[in-house]
Amino acid sequence: MALKERPKPFLLPEYCKGCGRCIDACAKDCISLSDQVNSLTGLVPVVLDLTNCNACGLCMDACPEPYGLRPAQEGPHQKFELEDPAKLFGVRPSDAPDPVDVPAQVLPLPATDGDGRQEPPVDRRLEPSGEAISAVSAVSAAPQ
Ligand code: SF4
Ligand code: SF4
Repeated sequence: MALKERPKPFLLPEYCKGCGRCIDACAKDCISLSDQVNSLTGLVPVVLDLTNCNACGLCMDACPEPYGLRPAQEGPHQKFELEDPAKLFGVRPSDAPDPVDVPAQVLPLPATDGDGRQEPPVDRRLEPSGEAISAVSAVSAAPQ
């Protein structure tokens, strides 16, 4: 009976968040952080050098990303550059709530003075409260 070869990992950098768990998991030092930010994600993904890889699979077990490190597929998927992950691996599991419509909201225009200029906004946080005014008055009125 022919032994089946274990798959080595592959990665689409777009789905790597650079957490480094796979780096720690690999005893063969096949994985390292890239020296470049991925322009699509703004994150630094890992890069693979599988020269010494023994296909142990520990890196794939360690990867928390649903579309992160995956076993290299045999057949037509072997050389793909970028395919819809949902077609390759199925719909991504998610417990996010279903989107709901946000009702349109009409906001009033800011008030203007007689010349059509906008009145400067009033920052209510800077207005002293009644308690603060009372406290200042009490301190001012206290005998020196
Ligand atoms: S399969 Fe094993 S040896 Fe290969 S990169 Fe992953 S952890 Fe390293
Ligand atoms: S464990 Fe997965 S997400 Fe984290 S750095 Fe490795 S490939 Fe990227």
